[in-house]
Amino acid sequence: MNLTRLTDRLTRQVEDTYRDVTEVFDPVIRLGVTGLSRAGKTVFITSLVANLLDRGRMGQLRAAAEGRILAAYLQPQPDHGIPRFAFEDHLAALTGPEPHWPESTRSISTLRLSLRVAPSGFFTGLGGPRTVHLDITDYPGEWLLDLPLMSQGFADWSAGALAASRTPARAAHAGAWLAALASADPAAPLNEASARALAGRFTDYLGSARKSGLSSVAPGRFLMPGDLEGSPALTFSPLPRPGRAPANSLWRAFEDRFEAYKRLVVAPFFRNHFARLDRQIVLIDALGAIHDGPRALEDLRTAMAEILATFRPGASSWLAPFLGKRIDRILFAATKADHLHHTQHPRLAAITEALVAEARRRARFRGAETHALSIASLRATVEQTIPRNGVAVDVVRGRLLDTGKEAALFPGNLPEDPAALLVPARQGAGHWLDAAYSVTRFAPPRLSLAPGEGPPHIRLDRAAEFLIGDRLT
Ligand code: GDP
Repeated sequence: MNLTRLTDRLTRQVEDTYRDVTEVFDPVIRLGVTGLSRAGKTVFITSLVANLLDRGRMGQLRAAAEGRILAAYLQPQPDHGIPRFAFEDHLAALTGPEPHWPESTRSISTLRLSLRVAPSGFFTGLGGPRTVHLDITDYPGEWLLDLPLMSQGFADWSAGALAASRTPARAAHAGAWLAALASADPAAPLNEASARALAGRFTDYLGSARKSGLSSVAPGRFLMPGDLEGSPALTFSPLPRPGRAPANSLWRAFEDRFEAYKRLVVAPFFRNHFARLDRQIVLIDALGAIHDGPRALEDLRTAMAEILATFRPGASSWLAPFLGKRIDRILFAATKADHLHHTQHPRLAAITEALVAEARRRARFRGAETHALSIASLRATVEQTIPRNGVAVDVVRGRLLDTGKEAALFPGNLPEDPAALLVPARQGAGHWLDAAYSVTRFAPPRLSLAPGEGPPHIRLDRAAEFLIGDRLT
């Protein structure tokens, strides 16, 4: 073990001991909220916090239903090193007179919500109310896809990324980047302008793959740079390995930057933030992927398996020594269930469950409790049954985002057996054979909330019960 790693570990041990001592008095739940871009993290956190502050719609959160949450209030966060989640701005966007969706997650942020909780059952006689802090950390799921880089060198990573770019799902996006690579000589001396152009093409390729619905787009910071935009640690690209690479070559420069990316970007995130979480919700836009087609769904499945692997890394993983308290509950939540009539919600949950099944079995094997749900953090629709060609059809009605007009939509019938989607996706089908799915974005509804009520949702209270309910006893 090298010296930096040893010092890191010792610092962590001291901090963890300090944390454990202070938490005897005021327990802290560290909830990580992640998911790929546009999965619904920002809307989830905003609605969860608003619904914990005003608990009228939280019937399935036992402590709330039993009236044991005496008060809830926002507090200054303990971690001064990362931005605060802009709760007030996001809530104002959703609940103002002209409601609009808030700005999505671009980087890491955090928020502390403190709950004053009266004890229940056995503990009732043991003392008065106590304070439980809920520290919510919002971070892009794309960042988790970077963990495998920690055990790879530049040559291996380049070879893997080049091979991936030639697969059918990606080839259409990689053309301009591969053409630029073909005219670059990795053994030639570094020229900063062409290096930048090459990195730009590589980033464009990742962006275009992402836009088409593909999920695995590492390195994660290329599309979600946070405050690192334009820095050398983000200015590189995979390269074909030259026979010989002189010290001043493009290859050596990109190899150095790749190592800098691991050291300055990936390692600190996992060590300082990820390793401290003890509960985790992974939001999944399964409907969006189904809409984008079989390749997008298969890519989402692979990305989820990679994400899950980070929660339970093997003992030999780079991450293993940093994990103190392990994540002991993981919730997989398919978001935006309000696009479907409730009769289809169990099917959406079953697809989500099947999507993460393999990865989930591994996680459960190592002791984490996991669960799958379909939710809507903010319900933007109402349900209706309308006759169509003499048949009653279950639809949802809402205000369309593009036109602002009210419309009733039927997004397609999800199959009862998830295999009907997952098998063709695994087999590389180009499109769905006997079904069509369309997901049209709805605008957030105009709300008039009664006192004590948070924004309307679907099963957000169940999600909260699974994630924190046992710690509110
Ligand atoms: P993030 O990138 O994970 O932070 O994603 P956001 O929370 O910003 O959500 C992305 C988009 O998904 C939003 O702009 C909405 O269009 C949509 N969305 C998120 N949650 C819901 C929901 O509960 N219902 C509906 N109808 N749309 C949602």
